[in-house]
Amino acid sequence: MSVLSSLGRTKHSEGNALEIGAEARKAKALDNSVIDATIGMLYDEDGKFYTFKTVEKASQNLSGKEKYSYGSTGGSKEFKEAIYSHVFRQYLDEFKENTKLALIATPGGTGAISNTFANYLEYGQKVLLPDYMWTNYTQIAKEAGCSYETFELFDELGQFNLSSFKEHINALKKEQGRVVVVLNDPCENPTGYSMSFSDWIGVVDSLNDVSRDSTPVVLVYDMAYIDYDKRGFDSSRNNIRLFEKFNDSVLTIMCFSGSKTLGLYGLRIGAQICVAQTEEIRNEFIEANEFSARGLWSGSSTLGQNIITSVLTTYKDEFAEELEFARKLLIDRANLFIEEAKKNNLYHLPYNCGFFVTIPCNNPQAVAEELKKKGLYILPIKGAIRLTLSSITLSEVKRAVEIIAKTI
Ligand code: PLP
Repeated sequence: MSVLSSLGRTKHSEGNALEIGAEARKAKALDNSVIDATIGMLYDEDGKFYTFKTVEKASQNLSGKEKYSYGSTGGSKEFKEAIYSHVFRQYLDEFKENTKLALIATPGGTGAISNTFANYLEYGQKVLLPDYMWTNYTQIAKEAGCSYETFELFDELGQFNLSSFKEHINALKKEQGRVVVVLNDPCENPTGYSMSFSDWIGVVDSLNDVSRDSTPVVLVYDMAYIDYDKRGFDSSRNNIRLFEKFNDSVLTIMCFSGSKTLGLYGLRIGAQICVAQTEEIRNEFIEANEFSARGLWSGSSTLGQNIITSVLTTYKDEFAEELEFARKLLIDRANLFIEEAKKNNLYHLPYNCGFFVTIPCNNPQAVAEELKKKGLYILPIKGAIRLTLSSITLSEVKRAVEIIAKTI
């Protein structure tokens, strides 16, 4: 017997990331030689959870009220300004002048994505996702009453597949009269791919083309890993700058994650940032999305907002140095992975930076089971396995490559 509603009964998790992660943690606690390459969090070279010192300091300096009192639904003015400065950096004044910005504090990047799907797609319509993607997008879409289709992220040369992207946005425009598309860049989850400036020009031109007749288009820019771009802050901001060039009917919604940028995973704090071209679209963004925020989670963590505000203002320079260190941890692991993969003839998808690498294989579930028997926990995804570099040490990277190469 089920007491669920008929809608409730359709809710089955597709991915099993959380279960595999929990199993891996248990196994690691019993035997430290187990490699847990499932966790999307940053660990240091001693195998310890990485905590930013500036985050700790900021948290300790907050009063009870600053930590625990109710905040406003959309977030405090100080939080909004701190995030704007961090995200737009040297281009903030330009953005304020040329576009209409708004921001809503959300429980993580997830809250921002889910608010966006819920308010910019009609019931049953499809969001466009890359074929290699963070699998939770599909669940967020279902929860928002939508479905999805995918474009091919890579062409045969391993470069961004602009023609597949164009084909799908045009088809969706015809089919549903609107286009909502997610791009997770830079350091895409699960591949670690980062789009080039010219890839972005292609995307911006294509979205402008599709919206020339005023078709509503929403670019959901999932910037969860932006601060781990090995090309540095400027390169990703130069790409973002292209969002100023959108037509009036293209809305960019940037989804910021406090989990990844500041290591505040469990605190659940992020932001949904509107970059609109018109006052009307900005106003309706605030109206509908604050309504959803109030109706779904009421308000986002005051503690999270105040930690972020303090770190990005009072401790700005020190935090930038810590981020640099965190980035370097990933770069060293990635360089070693690439070198070892070459030595072991292990093919992986194009990787530039970030938390994960993806290795295509047949029957990923069976491969994952086999790896587990050899003490390596990874995540099977569609047509591939995902190895998390952020949670394993350099010596574990080397061992992981050897185990995988022998197994597949
Ligand atoms: N986007 C991507 C690509 C992710 O990998 C994640 C988390 O793993 C998120 C968004 C959301 O993270 P959070 O809701 O913790 O900010």
